[in-house]
Amino acid sequence: MIVHGGAGGRAAPADRSERRRGLLAAATRGGEILRAGGAAIDAVIAAVTVLEDHPFFNAGYGSLLTTEGWVEMDAAVMTAERRGRSRTAYPEIRAGGVILISRVRNPIRLARAVMDLTPHLLMAGAGAERIARRAGIELCRPNELISPHARARWLANRAAPDARAASPSETKAAGGGDKHGTVGAVARDRHRNLAAATSTGGVPGKLPGRIGDSAIIGAGLFASARGAASATGAGEAILRAGLCRGAVEACGRGTPHAAAERAIRMLDGAEAGVILIDAKGRIGFAHSAQAMEIATFDPFVGTRHLTPAAMTAIAE
Ligand code: ASP
Repeated sequence: MIVHGGAGGRAAPADRSERRRGLLAAATRGGEILRAGGAAIDAVIAAVTVLEDHPFFNAGYGSLLTTEGWVEMDAAVMTAERRGRSRTAYPEIRAGGVILISRVRNPIRLARAVMDLTPHLLMAGAGAERIARRAGIELCRPNELISPHARARWLANRAAPDARAASPSETKAAGGGDKHGTVGAVARDRHRNLAAATSTGGVPGKLPGRIGDSAIIGAGLFASARGAASATGAGEAILRAGLCRGAVEACGRGTPHAAAERAIRMLDGAEAGVILIDAKGRIGFAHSAQAMEIATFDPFVGTRHLTPAAMTAIAE
């Protein structure tokens, strides 16, 4: 399993250990499920839920705010599950996503409810939030999702809008970190089922109603018999390129690392990152931002956190 905490600028030194703890906690939580024989879909949702609850990541509580000062989140899950024992059997592909969510603390759980409880794939706003009641997911007030840091940052950007684009080290929370900060996870379980999940508060300075790549199948996430991927970064560029689908399809032509790198090159320099796991359980990742942090879980080596420097070394 791999978990990411967004691609963007390097986290402020004061925030690094807390972000590291958050990513490790997410990978540990997902890893426990996989180790116990649980499903890849349960593992990615558990990992993403940990990061949505963590105020240092741009998802769930502490998401970035729109120009009008509210949280609007997007999230989705996708799974490719094997039917029967045959290696060649075509997998069952399922997906669910939600966009423009402002009254649910864990949009990734709502995305799963859309997948499990409705005939639909993608639902928006109030209609999606109505599914929460059916799924036993508690609704909150929109202002309960706004962290003090997200509010402070929004106020600062309002006072000096030009600083927003100029500061690559801005974060959604706690004063440092990255310009983005979306979260995501991909996993393969012992039955060789694959799953991907992505959740975001969007990009800094977004207009109300803006929808990014994170909940869009093929762009912010993808899963097929070949592999599963989750993306982060400049949503408009990721959408245009169909980043995650490109990465998963490239898995058939080489290692997941090479596939991730090839997919990132399709973006022509736009700032983004992708994590990838293939049908054999091999992992890959690549990014074009200043930094992207990830944590991994492997039943043989346990949980590891990879700093941007370690990631570069591994990729080389
Ligand atoms: N891709 C997300 C979006 O465009 C932002 C991010 O990954 O930081 O909404």
